[in-house]
Amino acid sequence: MRGSMEREYRISSIVEKGLEITRKYPLCDHCLGRMFAKIGLELGNDERGKAIKVLMNMKLHELLKAGSIGKDELKIFAVNNGDPITRLYRKIYNEEIIPKLCYICGNKLSRKYFEEHAEKISMLLKEYDASTFLIGVSISRELALKELEVAELVRLETSESIKNEIKREIGKIIKNRYGYEPDFEHPDVVVIIDYSTDTYNIVVNPILYEGLYWKRGRNISHTIWISHRGVKEYPYSLEEFLNDRLRELFRSERIIHHASGREDVDARMLGTGRPVVVEVKNPRKRRIDLDTINNVLRTHVIEFRLFKPSSRSRIEYLKGEASKKAKIYKVLFYVDEDIDDEKIGELMEKFKNIVIEQRTPTRILRRKKDVIRRRKVYGVRVRRIHGRIYEALIWCDGGLYVKELIHCDNGRTKPCFGEILGVNTYPVELDVIGIEVE
Ligand SMILES: [Zn+2]
Repeated sequence: MRGSMEREYRISSIVEKGLEITRKYPLCDHCLGRMFAKIGLELGNDERGKAIKVLMNMKLHELLKAGSIGKDELKIFAVNNGDPITRLYRKIYNEEIIPKLCYICGNKLSRKYFEEHAEKISMLLKEYDASTFLIGVSISRELALKELEVAELVRLETSESIKNEIKREIGKIIKNRYGYEPDFEHPDVVVIIDYSTDTYNIVVNPILYEGLYWKRGRNISHTIWISHRGVKEYPYSLEEFLNDRLRELFRSERIIHHASGREDVDARMLGTGRPVVVEVKNPRKRRIDLDTINNVLRTHVIEFRLFKPSSRSRIEYLKGEASKKAKIYKVLFYVDEDIDDEKIGELMEKFKNIVIEQRTPTRILRRKKDVIRRRKVYGVRVRRIHGRIYEALIWCDGGLYVKELIHCDNGRTKPCFGEILGVNTYPVELDVIGIEVE
């Protein structure tokens, strides 16, 4: 009983509020309804506005009969509300009346307005091969202030913003009539409507794929590396490979990749492959199946294998935490004096679960600060290949400078192979063969 009393009070207070607002401001159905957007469910603001105006017609009729208001006052409501108050006025005074334009939207908002935008935006979504979308609206400061001015009369308690109404109404049509799914987290395409000019600002989100890559050749850089003389330092890069093979397919502006660490340019990436996220920027084609992609990314020298969609947080993980995880390297090295097999045994004994201290390698000192890095070596296996040539398998933390572990970098890496073997030691070839991910 009490509940229904409260509801009744509320509804009559809506009519009172409606009168208070439209005594002051001319408003269309949408903009009046929007002041009460939080009351009632599954209603358009135009339906709310119309219903309130119908009730106001009834209320004003009563007031008129009771003599509480006169012609002039009714005229204000008729001019500010339009139909159906104009009907009441016309019937009683037999005078035509021209309603004013809406104070907030200038009568721009309508079902037709929503439908026209929905149709245009759906065409854009098709052009961008999107499945999911998000709509944004930008309005002028002037409009925002006008809206606030009116909404203050309901103390913003029951109102919503014009942006919300536009986004929701257009979004609903795009979903129901054109079959695109709204996505608030990771939409394929974001369309921002400029309310004043009726133009669109389009943000095409990149496509991210999770995968692995292998680099079975040497002197392949990760990105195009232009020397200070303005020429390419290395003939080919992973970046060029991806762009050569995927850009056309996705009709994309550019392809970039985010790997979990990176091997030296002259090192190969074999074995398990290295985790990577491939990012397709500004694509016009989004729905390409993985087999098609992987077919073009499979070559003898470079290969990428993509498994599934990925995310920004995955990139962060690969770049951060994951890059420190254990790696296995295979290094070919030679020594400049003959050594006994016993020495090799000693070496393997020494490099078991041992922390290596490395000052920034001389070869990169120009680009990086001189600091001490500590990384663990978990185990080492070494075998003689021929004469003074050896092969080592090194199991260690990510980020260890492996070449320096072999040749000592003039004492900047401790302990190191050369130190234990008591001879000069030179790394020749380096391969990454194992990368721990999770
Ligand atoms: Zn309006």
